[in-house]
Amino acid sequence: MITSYIRVLWHAIFDPGFVGQQPGRKSGSEGTWQRPGPWQTPRMVRPSPPLESFYDQDFFVCDAQGKPIWCSECQIWKPDRARHSKEFGRCIRRFDHYCPWVGGIVAERNFKFFIQFCTYAALFSLVSLLVVAYFLSRKVEYRWERTVHLSVTAGLAVFFMFLAGGTGLSGWLLAAMNLTTLDNIHQKTNVWQVAVSTEMAKRSEGCAFPTVTAPKDCNRVFAILKSPAGCNPFDAGLMENLRQVLGRHWWHWVLPLRNSPLCYSDTGNSDKPHPGFACIEEIKEAAGLGSMAPETRSACDRLRRRQRRFPQLLAGAGAPLKTVKVRSAGG
Ligand SMILES: [Zn+2]
Repeated sequence: MITSYIRVLWHAIFDPGFVGQQPGRKSGSEGTWQRPGPWQTPRMVRPSPPLESFYDQDFFVCDAQGKPIWCSECQIWKPDRARHSKEFGRCIRRFDHYCPWVGGIVAERNFKFFIQFCTYAALFSLVSLLVVAYFLSRKVEYRWERTVHLSVTAGLAVFFMFLAGGTGLSGWLLAAMNLTTLDNIHQKTNVWQVAVSTEMAKRSEGCAFPTVTAPKDCNRVFAILKSPAGCNPFDAGLMENLRQVLGRHWWHWVLPLRNSPLCYSDTGNSDKPHPGFACIEEIKEAAGLGSMAPETRSACDRLRRRQRRFPQLLAGAGAPLKTVKVRSAGG
């Protein structure tokens, strides 16, 4: 529990998942929390992905012209789901939320440790409660001070068990759905605009959707499409979603030692999507770009049923902490 807490705190303060900035960025865009000097090593600040790298993927979140989202403060193309944080004056990969209990930002590099810490803290509180309950239930006459101490400890244990348990559970659910807390706020109505790689879209005349060509390869053509409301294009299926956040082996899920696999994505795009799966296939079919195979369709139906059930589950777990002062994906 202590290791996971230290890792959450360390990354929240020094390294939540910074995206590198261009040298020519606007002056005055330094954040109040920006920590220059020896703390920020080049390893911590992974460079922003170059424009061409977005067009090497099967799809990416784009603007109306089919370009990735531009951050005017950092002067970079934002990786999918990166958000600009005013506090740090930088874009942060897979920004999840600002956590007042940790006192910092939970994002790509510490989301896994955050979930682990909440889980361990809830278990620790449960064990503490059981121990205190055992002593209180014994037929022994304690001095009144001791009874007060035990009762206060029991009260604190109950409080932290529900707080950490609820937050941890909602973290697990978000990881299982491949959502961030920010995405989840508008999940029911959220419509994603995505550039989807397709050969067929090359015949742009007569198409019902706009297209865009990759800057360095005119054979790579992307259709600019919108997802149905409530559809999450990053959802790659329950187990794959959890592996993306927690790791490929069971001990990665339990021990707060290795970073999340999201941090090692080679394109620099932490939300590299699962190719040709569910939501994107659904969007392509709706646009008249081919039809889904029967197994993809049933996988898609399962996914959408889970996506519809999810908000009730999350509400049951207690909403995760509120978020502050970040730009939307479009800004
Ligand atoms: Zn930025």
